[in-house]
Amino acid sequence: MATAQRDYYELLGVTRTATPDDIKKAFRRLARQFHPDLHAGARKGEMEKKFKELNEAYEVLSDPESRKKYDRYGHQWEQAEAYERAQQQSRGAGGGDAQWQNEGRAGADFGDIFESIFGGGRRRGAGPGSEGSGARGEDLITSVRLSLREVISGVTQRIQLTEPVPCQSCHGTGRVSRRPCPECAGAGRKADTRMIDVKIPAGIQDGKRIRVPGKGAPAPNGGRRGDLFLNVEVAKHPVFTRDGADLEVTLPVWPWEATLGAEVTAPTLGDPIKVRVPAGSQSGNKLRIKGKGLPTDGGTRGDLYFVLQIILPTPLSEDERRQYEEMAKAARPDPRGDLIRKAGQ
Ligand SMILES: [Zn+2]
Repeated sequence: MATAQRDYYELLGVTRTATPDDIKKAFRRLARQFHPDLHAGARKGEMEKKFKELNEAYEVLSDPESRKKYDRYGHQWEQAEAYERAQQQSRGAGGGDAQWQNEGRAGADFGDIFESIFGGGRRRGAGPGSEGSGARGEDLITSVRLSLREVISGVTQRIQLTEPVPCQSCHGTGRVSRRPCPECAGAGRKADTRMIDVKIPAGIQDGKRIRVPGKGAPAPNGGRRGDLFLNVEVAKHPVFTRDGADLEVTLPVWPWEATLGAEVTAPTLGDPIKVRVPAGSQSGNKLRIKGKGLPTDGGTRGDLYFVLQIILPTPLSEDERRQYEEMAKAARPDPRGDLIRKAGQ
């Protein structure tokens, strides 16, 4: 099946030849950076997820045995191991070669197990002639996660696919000289990993599905390959929230900037830009910057919204305190007056 999870080595930022010490150091460094206790608010949930992923990667890669299996089978290593174990047990229970004479039965069982291991993300090959000889290969489904930046520019994603392929040692028969093939433990098939590059167009929406023709599983009898489907997931951005092609971000401003008006520097997904905060702005007012959002299907761009948030200086300097005290003396109507009147109605 197609694996969608991020590569453990990539997660830890180490190469596949990293020493156990490298892995440990990388994990410690990242664990400190992403520990959920060090983050608050909206980021906390994201960090918890990231931290969990890191732990999982470290657990597997720090153990030489599981690391070896992961290197061989990828994210499916645990299932692959269970499969191997099942085969060994069955071989033991069967007693010598006798069981292997019983061709149909044993073969079918292992086939089923193999299907359940590698069949998780597949769906049946569609279209005419999908059964019997001349069948086309099965479709594979996987997902890709893009950052908002990648959505803007479009991106070529390298995708790792794990799928069963006929074992070369026994040519898919599961046997060598009437014995179970040692290479595939009699299954006739092995897990194979291949990498493909898929170009993802700019402006792709979260939840969209991309079809890559002919990149699915190989056909059993030399027919054409199935298709690969990519479910696109757009990662949450730490700063910008997305609404269709529009982006929104909270922009902190000082009270005097909001009151008197100001030109401030504000973030975009590209370079920061200058934005005019109008005099008399209130918290929650939105400034719209046309065309600074995400690309749309129609080739235009969505808008970027800055939501003003007036923040107060703290702690106050002596001078600032005096100025606030001056303002407090000025006669202004009670800002809660209206609220209190309405509440009583
Ligand atoms: Zn084999």
